[in-house]
Amino acid sequence: MKAIQHQELVTPALLIRAEAMARNRQRMTQAMSKFPSVSLRPHMKAHKCGPLALLQVADGALGVCAATVDEVYVAASAGVKDILLSNELATLAAVKRFVKIAAEFSQAKLRICVDSVGLIRLLKEAGAAAVNVGVLIEVDVGHHRCGCHPDQVVALAQAISEAGLSFDGIQCYQGKLQHIRDRDARRDAVMASAVAVAKLSKQKLLDAGIECNIVTGGGTGTFTVEAGSGVFTEVQPGSYLFMDVDYGKNPDTPFESSLFVLATIISIDSTRSWAVIDAGHKAVTMDSGPPAVVGHAETVQYTSGGDEHGILSTGNVGDLPVEFEVGKQLWLVPGHCDPTVNLYSTVHVMTEDGKSE
Ligand code: PLP
Ligand code: MN
Repeated sequence: MKAIQHQELVTPALLIRAEAMARNRQRMTQAMSKFPSVSLRPHMKAHKCGPLALLQVADGALGVCAATVDEVYVAASAGVKDILLSNELATLAAVKRFVKIAAEFSQAKLRICVDSVGLIRLLKEAGAAAVNVGVLIEVDVGHHRCGCHPDQVVALAQAISEAGLSFDGIQCYQGKLQHIRDRDARRDAVMASAVAVAKLSKQKLLDAGIECNIVTGGGTGTFTVEAGSGVFTEVQPGSYLFMDVDYGKNPDTPFESSLFVLATIISIDSTRSWAVIDAGHKAVTMDSGPPAVVGHAETVQYTSGGDEHGILSTGNVGDLPVEFEVGKQLWLVPGHCDPTVNLYSTVHVMTEDGKSE
């Protein structure tokens, strides 16, 4: 591959710092080594990228989670052998596509989450049993997004078996708790929701004589809690690979930023009170707060300038850092890695000497 310097890139551009990402991978391997009976199933929604999924498998991951059928396809075609669609589908067209991927990549084990009999019927109609698709029941552990009530778990597991499908376990994911800043408060909240509901749901299944082999969930902010709970068999962190401003505010995180948006100053106002960069809503997302400017995170704030522009200012008249000039490149840490990655079709992997990998 051609070696390039970041100065040669046309901005805005999405970059990974290879060494920082490698350190995050090592930190995850180290963290998971404390839980030898729990598997790592990273969520590929963070990167949506086959080669990175394979790196995670090489790190010891059992397989990956995918959020969409497209991500399932990316993982399967890259050669990942164990893929969980950690989400529900709702139309026959979508389920048929999922089943088609399972048929095309028969060496890969595909699983999907369900929370209603409707999806079980669609899976049956699409022929999921013939291609060995596994089914997990998603349980609402208090996130109030997808997931059934724990009281529905037994009936759904029975419906899965009656449809000729394999019931493999439960997903109990609590997304809202990932960013509780205080570590103890975060742990307590996970214990009271995801862990408690997972235990209860598993017990209901066992009482009904139904095996529950997989209990999956947990993200970058909480995976050690789920992994240490004695009930989860696997965890699903995704953002740990890249991190972002929001996750960086969890004071106990062992992970560092490895994902950046490279932007360029395209205009400076005559009083040097603000600079305009070529990274607006099409380059960074604002859903979890603004990006941070590397080297100026404490003093310079990013505000939206619309689709194509970002505005940088300290808030004081004439106070831009002296090195801010038109043409200068700046590195931004995304506010939220997952939706920012989704804005790009290419990511440049840079090593510390500035070359692409
Ligand atoms: N599992 C599920 C079901 C998710 O929706 C997500 C992210 O939203 C994750 C795991 C990964 O979480 P994180 O990116 O916070 O590590
Ligand atoms: Mn996210």
